[in-house]
Amino acid sequence: MIYQPEIKPANIQANIEVKHIATCRLPTEWGEFQMHGFEEVATGQDHVALTMGDIDDGEPVLTRVHSECLTGDALFSQRCDCGPQLQAAMQAIQAKGRGCIVYLRQEGRGIGLINKIRAYQLQDQGMDTVEANVALGLPVDARNFVLARNILHYLHVTDIVLMTNNPQKVATLEATGIEVVAREPLIVGLNKENEQYLQTKHDKLGHML
Ligand SMILES: [Zn+2]
Repeated sequence: MIYQPEIKPANIQANIEVKHIATCRLPTEWGEFQMHGFEEVATGQDHVALTMGDIDDGEPVLTRVHSECLTGDALFSQRCDCGPQLQAAMQAIQAKGRGCIVYLRQEGRGIGLINKIRAYQLQDQGMDTVEANVALGLPVDARNFVLARNILHYLHVTDIVLMTNNPQKVATLEATGIEVVAREPLIVGLNKENEQYLQTKHDKLGHML
């Protein structure tokens, strides 16, 4: 338990039930993972988890809870650090031979791809990531991490070592009932283009960089 009392957990969001659909092999540049597909019961929205090794033995599992970032994860954007963080997490799991990535389809901290492009447009005109969301009348962070808990529980994972720079995420996951026994930083992917963005995440969202 590394909950920091000065960091308030995000509102404990509605319990979104998920059901497991299928599991397959996923060979990658960072070794072979198992990919587990889930659907939200109410909406059919899909999410995946990648796992490596035996993770259901009760020992803490090296885990990344990653929210989808199409621009960073798949299109090599340098506006953020999502792609390098995902890769570093997969690499760390390969090095350990054991771990889990919960990949939630919550694009743009939950506002969706098109709203993210709208927010980027405002950022091109000088706003920061928080100001842009506020100007659009959108939440700064609309992600639901109860989803992550439900997926981890399906995989019989209750104790994790969380790879993140975001103490809010630690607090929120702990509030859902996941035991975060330690936090491992992921300081990767810094570049000229995302310097200001990462500074804002540090100053306004409490990220540790
Ligand atoms: Zn990103």
